[in-house]
Amino acid sequence: MSIETKYVVKVYPSPKPKRIPKIVSQELKGSAGPKAIARMKKESVDCPLVKAEVGFLVCFACPSFIRRVSGEVHCAGVQPPPKEWLI
Ligand code: SF4
Repeated sequence: MSIETKYVVKVYPSPKPKRIPKIVSQELKGSAGPKAIARMKKESVDCPLVKAEVGFLVCFACPSFIRRVSGEVHCAGVQPPPKEWLI
């Protein structure tokens, strides 16, 4: 069964990057190089579920994240990221 994209959300460089909780950075360590992670730390999305700016790495680790293509996140829109990630 494939997961359907409900929202296409633009990724943008944040003027004031959101803090990323340690648990999220640790979880993503294996999935991208340190340089890419450092760059992605400064990016955000305007999450349609949280209805606010969310750091891209939090979005990347979110249960609704499907993929990132050409600077856009395909979001399943089923579940927002855990509240404790939104610091
Ligand atoms: S994947 Fe999660 S954080 Fe990203 S836009 Fe969708 S609900 Fe928001």
